Amino acid sequence: MEHHPTYHEGRVTVELLHPEVFLRERGRLARDFGVAAIAALQQARLTFTTPQGAELYRLPVPEPLVVAETFAGTGIRSLRYFLEVGGVAEALLNDISTPALETARHNAARLGLDRRIRFYHMEANNFHYTLKLEELFPHVLDLDAFGSPVPFLDSAFHAVRDGGFLYITATDLAALCGIDRRSAFNHYAALTVQTEFCHETGARVFVRTVVRAGARRKFRVIPLFTLFDGYALRGFFFTIHGRYDLDPRSEGFLGICPACHTVWSVPFSGKDLCNRCPRCGEEAWVAGPLWLWDLHHPGFLEAMETAGRNLGTLSRRFFRVIRRMREEVGLPPFFYTTTAVADRLDLSQPPLAEVLEALRQRGYAARRTHFHGTGFKTTAPYAEVAEVFRQLVRPA
Ligand SMILES: [Zn+2]
Repeated sequence: MEHHPTYHEGRVTVELLHPEVFLRERGRLARDFGVAAIAALQQARLTFTTPQGAELYRLPVPEPLVVAETFAGTGIRSLRYFLEVGGVAEALLNDISTPALETARHNAARLGLDRRIRFYHMEANNFHYTLKLEELFPHVLDLDAFGSPVPFLDSAFHAVRDGGFLYITATDLAALCGIDRRSAFNHYAALTVQTEFCHETGARVFVRTVVRAGARRKFRVIPLFTLFDGYALRGFFFTIHGRYDLDPRSEGFLGICPACHTVWSVPFSGKDLCNRCPRCGEEAWVAGPLWLWDLHHPGFLEAMETAGRNLGTLSRRFFRVIRRMREEVGLPPFFYTTTAVADRLDLSQPPLAEVLEALRQRGYAARRTHFHGTGFKTTAPYAEVAEVFRQLVRPA
């Protein structure tokens, strides 16, 4: 009997047959979010409407789910859906790598799930078109590509169903966060800027790119959650097909003043763009185009948290992160960090809790963000934030 190394997560133990097909603990948070989302889909009571208020869709999804993974690897995500969530009828697992597919088949058989899984051995875009040709139209299509997901987005919108969901990963953070600006322009047709809140800017460029890919196929795309897990950006999107006007206020740009550090957003409203700081008149950095509305649907986050608690298999980190995400809803599309603000003012760092309290006392909303350990979102302008820091930290 051959012995293979194993990896355990949630209720699943996977045997790893080949050294090149591995699993990492750092990917767990994203998988926990997937498990919670699949559970929430079957319980969340949410209604999606047109901007005029007409009902388009209503959750929960009324039937057993079909899930698909374009880059399945070991297939651990779907195995977890089967063993932890229930309500999943079938999984369609694809991978171009033969060792990966062998590993996925082996583990599915070991766990007695092979009759509920169909395997595909194809290039990613071919897989998406095959789903369409076979009229399989999964409820949830999981696209966990290495690097940018852009080469696979258009075909993904051929495979996804009306009222379906996409779970998409982007690992090209250098491009999205303003370090490799040329790649950002090549892949996303967007300007990215390296700032203290660059991971959120990257998330918003990524979300807007998915929304645009959907729009080319007449899908309206609604982000249900957007996760930064420390090394990749992950978005879970709801897709509704039909002729709906997208709201131009949902997309636009950020202006970032290098002189007074004011940050502001400029929607696609027809007015002129943001090349001058509204406070000091300095020439500004521009980031975008990007998604300006909320990165998460608050009702869906709540449903995920509740469903996650009932499952009992999710990491503590999942609950910590989702609580922070819930705090982000309704606040401006960028944040500050105590580290960066203190640095600019040449002060020592005040405790984040004191900064939040002081901003609230001045009448502003101020809450933490999951994007950064010392990050905070606030409705206060930067000048006011700086004032609070000066007050809290008196130079010795
Ligand atoms: Zn300025």
